[in-house]
Amino acid sequence: MTLELDKSLPFSDNPKEECGIMGVYGPGKDVAQMCLFGLLSLQHRGQEAAGISVSDTKQINYEKGMGLLNSVFTNERLQTLKGINALGHTRYSTTGSSSTRNIQPYVIETAHGPLALAHNGNITNAAQLREELLAKGVGLTSFSDSEVLLMMIAGAKGNTWAERIKNTMPKWEGAFSLVFQSRTGLYAVRDPWGFRPLCIGYFPDWGYAVASETCALNTLGCINIREVMPGEIVVMNYDGMNSAPGMKPKKKTAFCTFEHVYFSRADSEWDGRSINSVRERMGAELAREAPVEADVVMAVPSSAIPAAIGYAKESRIVYTSGLTKNDYVGRTFIQPTDELRQLGIRLKFNALPYNLEGERVILVDDSIVRGNTSRALVKLIRDSGAKEVHVRVSSPPIVSPCFMGVDMGSYDELIAHRYSTEEIREFIGADSLHYLTIDGMMKAINSKTTYCNACFTGEYPIDVKTLSRSKLKFEG
Ligand code: SF4
Repeated sequence: MTLELDKSLPFSDNPKEECGIMGVYGPGKDVAQMCLFGLLSLQHRGQEAAGISVSDTKQINYEKGMGLLNSVFTNERLQTLKGINALGHTRYSTTGSSSTRNIQPYVIETAHGPLALAHNGNITNAAQLREELLAKGVGLTSFSDSEVLLMMIAGAKGNTWAERIKNTMPKWEGAFSLVFQSRTGLYAVRDPWGFRPLCIGYFPDWGYAVASETCALNTLGCINIREVMPGEIVVMNYDGMNSAPGMKPKKKTAFCTFEHVYFSRADSEWDGRSINSVRERMGAELAREAPVEADVVMAVPSSAIPAAIGYAKESRIVYTSGLTKNDYVGRTFIQPTDELRQLGIRLKFNALPYNLEGERVILVDDSIVRGNTSRALVKLIRDSGAKEVHVRVSSPPIVSPCFMGVDMGSYDELIAHRYSTEEIREFIGADSLHYLTIDGMMKAINSKTTYCNACFTGEYPIDVKTLSRSKLKFEG
């Protein structure tokens, strides 16, 4: 076997969710501060850049910057943002597109007043739409699909923003959970496939909020939280919070399974299901599918902890903490020597040898993308005294890239696209390796909703044939 470590890759082995969105409507309230609090609950969806825009009913002002929310939004910067509604965005971007110009929300002036947009997802026909706009003489300042959406709405027919959105939506293909901000309102929009989450809630007595995940709405104290339905437009303004005509949901929806596996925070709900409970059930299914004699079950922290607990409960093998994670390291690029690579893993994870010495360990992870991290962790756990390391993955092998707004890398970067499970086991140095089957995963989700499983099957719910097979530069 010739499977080798890719020394040029960043030391990061998780798919990257592209964005978190937060909107607050609340005249008389400090909407920028509330928006920031909500965004802090969505920081896991993007850590490279952030922005907040606020409408004072005449104009939309904004602050943006590179980095984590706490470093972008000082008190002084927040103080400049006063108004009746706020729109926020936290962003992960692919290498090379982390420029200030691409930070959302995008704010433009239109014939109908200022308009801002925050977008989570990826428009698969954006290149064609972009050409159409350029042919009409519309000026574009970036290569972002989000700017294309905004310019299309700005020039659309209709008497209200809701009508303009409705008239334009059918032209968009792909994943789009969007929030538009006008001088007086917010407009939450979800694509008819329902790829990415978007939810809304009330503040008792004073306003409304919209967010990528329910955890943000819960943090802010919202009540009556529900999802924006696939194809729905929800308007939040002085008339209240109302559903406006959008598009019919697709007969076969395509909710993203990976929200359950990894992206969403464990205290969020998605498709009416607790993310934490689904992950525990995935762990239990995994234990039933791939039992192994062992002394302890441990997780790759922190997203795999619920699955490891589920595995431990089902197998009746004791759960232990075998690794601690430093959440403050961020993205670390590792020098191409074995010694520094292993040091790099210790920056992010450290082992607890007292819990591992002489033990036969089951290591539960939620996914393996390139395999680099798994290989380094197995070595770290063995070096800490474990006798055996059995890796169990609470999702199926990732064999195809995502074209709907998640950066998983190209076909060539996905280890399971090129190698068998046995070859991957040998590469990561585990005593055994098992991935949860698609049936097991869907049993754990236990929903009648149709999900997208394209990264596990290569069968896409929308036409992606014309898209590049190389790594995409998403801008969501
Ligand atoms: S391909 Fe995978 S990550 Fe992308 S939307 Fe489908 S399930 Fe989610």
